[in-house]
Amino acid sequence: MTSMTPQNAPFGSILTDVMAIATFKDGRWSPHSLRAVGPIEIHPAAHALHYASECFEGFKAYKWADGSVHVFRMDRHIERLRQSARSLVLPEPDAAQVAEMVLAVIDRCRAAVPDAPGALYLRPLLFGTMPNIGAAATPANEACLIVLASPVWDYFAGGAKPLRIYVEEEATRCASHLGVVKTGGNYAAALGPTLAARRQFQVDQVLFCPHGEVQETGAANFLLIRPGRIVTRALDSTFLHGVTRDSLLTMARDLGYAVEERVFTVEEMLAWARDGEAALSGTAAVLAGVGTLIRKGGVEQRVGGGGVGPETQKLRAALVAIQQGTALDRYGWLRRV
Ligand SMILES: *Cc1c(COP(=O)(O)O)cnc(C)c1O
Repeated sequence: MTSMTPQNAPFGSILTDVMAIATFKDGRWSPHSLRAVGPIEIHPAAHALHYASECFEGFKAYKWADGSVHVFRMDRHIERLRQSARSLVLPEPDAAQVAEMVLAVIDRCRAAVPDAPGALYLRPLLFGTMPNIGAAATPANEACLIVLASPVWDYFAGGAKPLRIYVEEEATRCASHLGVVKTGGNYAAALGPTLAARRQFQVDQVLFCPHGEVQETGAANFLLIRPGRIVTRALDSTFLHGVTRDSLLTMARDLGYAVEERVFTVEEMLAWARDGEAALSGTAAVLAGVGTLIRKGGVEQRVGGGGVGPETQKLRAALVAIQQGTALDRYGWLRRV
């Protein structure tokens, strides 16, 4: 057995001691309480267990070199949670209440926020608890909101390894109106195809490209990058509108990149890959370089030189510097907590 020190614990495998919890009943949310992290009681007929009325969020708080703690674009993530709740017809929590819960958890877990390049990952979770197995076509009128926190360390502890990505041109990740919703059901839907591609082609992730149009992977957005230019799919209902994606594009425009948000095809991506870069964006890794694209039948194409490209490294470093307080936050993305 290998011993697991926190520094090499897999992302999300360790939680802090404290969580915040609030419940919705009789048309309103209870005040939250702080509790020890541990099992909760849930009725076996709870709506979420049968009809997947569940959504979540994920974002980070960073400890700067001076010891102060700063949360990144929390308001934007809370707005997305509320949007997910509306899409799934779950009781929508007030933005102010979610913020209060997040801040209370961070405050209680201050000592557990790792130094850079680590962070405290915050995980709000909302699910329907109405106990009624006949409610397949009825929204949950009872719900639970929990905020968990997880100290995470360097995502690239073993070095930034270029990713192997399977290009899936038939299967969809989820129903086309739900891509924009951060809900567990979408992950469940992507799991089978992802594991199948992993087994067959030893890939890290699957890039979903239904009808030959590039969307995103199971948990990250997809960008084509080259000096002075970025191409990524324009926002629509079919994929998750990443806050990291938005942050990178905003920064890139100010750095002088031409940013094209539009539909692009697998063919265009493969042509780009001959001498361009490709990367995945998301809160966990910020920006991770793609080294190889694998098509149906196992045909492999290297992306650029097959490593993590220089533009990808440059953009990632620029955003990480803002998050860790070593570059000026011109955008007001960080909030000291
Ligand atoms: C969370 C998530 C992302 C990344 O979003 P960020 O806000 O950048 O963390 C991308 N795709 C999917 C499917 C996601 O669930």
